[in-house]
Amino acid sequence: MKDNFNRNIDYLRISIIDRCNLRCIYCMPEEGITNLLPHHEILSYEEILKIVEIGVDLGITKIRITGGEPLLRKGIVSFIERLARIEGIRDIGMTTNGVLLKKFAKDLYNAGLKRVNVSLDSLDENKFRAITRVGLIDDVFEGIDEAKNAGLQPVKVNVVVMKGINDDEIEKFALWSKKVEYQIRFIEFMPVGQNAWKKELFISKDEIKERIENKIGKLIPVQMKKSGPAEYFMLEGAKGFLGFISPMTTHICIRCNRLRLTADGKLRPCLFSDKEVDIKKILRSGTSTEEIREIIIKTIHLKPQGMSEHTKPLRPMSTIGG
Ligand code: SAM
Ligand code: SF4
Repeated sequence: MKDNFNRNIDYLRISIIDRCNLRCIYCMPEEGITNLLPHHEILSYEEILKIVEIGVDLGITKIRITGGEPLLRKGIVSFIERLARIEGIRDIGMTTNGVLLKKFAKDLYNAGLKRVNVSLDSLDENKFRAITRVGLIDDVFEGIDEAKNAGLQPVKVNVVVMKGINDDEIEKFALWSKKVEYQIRFIEFMPVGQNAWKKELFISKDEIKERIENKIGKLIPVQMKKSGPAEYFMLEGAKGFLGFISPMTTHICIRCNRLRLTADGKLRPCLFSDKEVDIKKILRSGTSTEEIREIIIKTIHLKPQGMSEHTKPLRPMSTIGG
């Protein structure tokens, strides 16, 4: 399915929950999201599966499950199992904070999850705690190990870099890539919702790369089969890879192949645009499959050419899913 700018839209990111067990300083206020959705406002698994089935018919082949924290939602393993049974889906991934991954990794893999992205913004116990406000770093390390042992491949580690907060660990993360087989990806901090984004906290991909090259060694470009918006490199002799995702300084929109479904049932054509289509309302009004199909097509045609058309989305990241 092509959008108005000839981009092939084959990737649906689904936020299945707006709740989270962490309170990352860049994503949520300390007290958490106060106006959480009542349960009946959240799409049921059946509703999500119906949207996916219609999406697959339109060319969606790749799904990512996110949140809030997706592993908090009851029945997640059997949901993944049902999702994996839909013919035409070639890839199911999940973005998680990793806190509950140790418990779920094996079952998720057996259910059909293929890959996992784990958010980890510090390698230091105290700093991790300060950034997430409540998290215990060992839970995440154990979750990452378990994901790898379970066969989830590749394991990607996402690091949102913020100046004066965790940028002193850029080199530490780079050195870590020499020892572990993960794809460690540095993500530029984005202004979303009412989050703590400030220009002074921003650090660009180029600056991060420069610091690694100056202090650790040359970044050797690597061509990944499926790289999405990330650029990949490796350090000489390293087991793992270093990735850079730079929504703020690179025109990654040219290759954008995504559509987003929020937990409260809104289809979003772009992370940076607050344009949304209320698919839940349509779904719950007893509309036919054909009409839902038309709505998905309409949303794809709403995709803007680039984020420069917008500034800051109003919704908090935890309710969009990243
Ligand atoms: N709770 C899960 C997690 O943290 O992985 C999934 C939801 S979280 C909203 C998805 C991703 O968005 C995480 O990798 C997180 O680090 C990233 N994220 C959240 N706020 C961000 C921001 N302002 N800029 C860049 N990335 C952000
Ligand atoms: Fe929760 Fe993920 Fe947001 Fe952190 S980034 S508060 S783990 S949703």
